[in-house]
Amino acid sequence: MSGWLPELLETMEKRMLADGYRSPDVQGALKSIKKEAYWSALYRQILACQKCPFGQDRKASTQRVPGTGNRESPFMLVGEGPGFDEDRIGVPFTGISGALLTVALHKLGLTRQEIYITNVLKCRPANNRTPDPEEVKTCGGFLAAELKLVKPKAILCLGRVAIQYFFPEVKSIKQIRGQWLDYGGIPVMPTYHPAYVLRQTGVDLEMAKRQWWSDLVQAYKRAYQQDRETAPIPEAAGLAENLNGNTNQEQ
Ligand code: SF4
Repeated sequence: MSGWLPELLETMEKRMLADGYRSPDVQGALKSIKKEAYWSALYRQILACQKCPFGQDRKASTQRVPGTGNRESPFMLVGEGPGFDEDRIGVPFTGISGALLTVALHKLGLTRQEIYITNVLKCRPANNRTPDPEEVKTCGGFLAAELKLVKPKAILCLGRVAIQYFFPEVKSIKQIRGQWLDYGGIPVMPTYHPAYVLRQTGVDLEMAKRQWWSDLVQAYKRAYQQDRETAPIPEAAGLAENLNGNTNQEQ
């Protein structure tokens, strides 16, 4: 897309200005078209990628799983990588972890379609093994491009691998969750992956739900600030009650 896109945009601009359309209107339209072209190129690159062994393991990874949702959203969620269900469906966070995440989003008055949800890795590692830092770096270029295009006002990082993409020095999500970090001017909130919450039992489960919910609420408020009439936010205990069915099934 290197040479032909600027040429195409220039030709269209000349034509529209010659026809008497206002320059700011034309500029706005062409900027929007340019962004679409970048998204289209990015998705093509992801879908065709063979840069690392994850993409070649056709048993574990049957398709690439790019980000999904509102490309203009102020709120971006970043997870680790697709699991078995996400690989089958082709959309991030659509298994049981995604169900828990979606319940929580609904409680914030958000739909999945209103926010941008993605993963560091776009292919499923065999046996859902944790990728090493080099593998994260190899696939991370796609996430960097998504960040540049979405320009979120806040990022919620779900799990250790996600936060390590932004801050490789982080060793444990437990030590850092709930604390705002700064990534090139973008506020980043680290929290548990919903799979971690689902694995807990008893008092650990109640604690994990409260902490996770608190982190989600903080990130939500930071992303929307004054841009949105924020719906009344339920307390963590309310979330815990509503999620008990899901977590019990998982245990
Ligand atoms: S995991 Fe990322 S870098 Fe590796 S093949 Fe898939 S898309 Fe490409």
